[in-house]
Amino acid sequence: MADPLRVTVWNEYLHEVAEETIAAIYPDGMHGAIAAFLRREGLDVRTATLEEPEHGLTEAVLANTDVLIWWGHLAHDRVAGEIVERVYQGVVAGGMGLVVLHSAHFSRIFKRLMGTTCNLKWREAGEKERIWVVAPAHPIAAGLPEWFEIPQTEMYGEHFDIPEPDQLVLISWFEGGEIFRSGCCFYRGRGKIFYFRPGHETYPIYHHPHVLRVIANAVRWAAPAGGPIVNFGHRPQPLEDIGSN
Ligand code: ZN
Repeated sequence: MADPLRVTVWNEYLHEVAEETIAAIYPDGMHGAIAAFLRREGLDVRTATLEEPEHGLTEAVLANTDVLIWWGHLAHDRVAGEIVERVYQGVVAGGMGLVVLHSAHFSRIFKRLMGTTCNLKWREAGEKERIWVVAPAHPIAAGLPEWFEIPQTEMYGEHFDIPEPDQLVLISWFEGGEIFRSGCCFYRGRGKIFYFRPGHETYPIYHHPHVLRVIANAVRWAAPAGGPIVNFGHRPQPLEDIGSN
């Protein structure tokens, strides 16, 4: 059997510290809930948070991370540019997978990788969300029913200002009428990125079995493919003798 995938779950970890009601839902933080599930799945999981030196994302940590999971909301602008660049290079040059959750649509790393505003509509009214699988053959849909529901959530609505996803796996419908592309795959350089919408901090969404299933599937999909190191730029030496033409 292959070695287990090495996963780092990054969370800004501010809501859970500041708000008792959220701490009650996630006593070990949202990263703790996600990490516990992924460990039960047999993965090699560590966590990292904003307040740690280098936000817990040192060169050594990233060098030993196959897939990085990212949750942020309040503190996108407190993530150092140097760390954003390190993660960016880890994805596009290193082939590290990146799973971007919920309000991390506005994270610096996701906006950098997308090149668009990543803006959307939102409403916090505790409404129901129904998530439809629109790519049943995709590995991220493994083990899911045709659709599943989150009884209470924050709404995100289209238009979601992202580039056209390379693969769209999930679409959400909300009780209030909006829809949203909730599970989006992107290829960037040697790396793979999955954006997954659910995860508003005031609801127990990272305890939902289908939500956790999607995250585990996304980690496996986003794992490095082991493709070639890519070299760019001037190539004065041709591979074949092309004479002096
Ligand atoms: Zn939210």
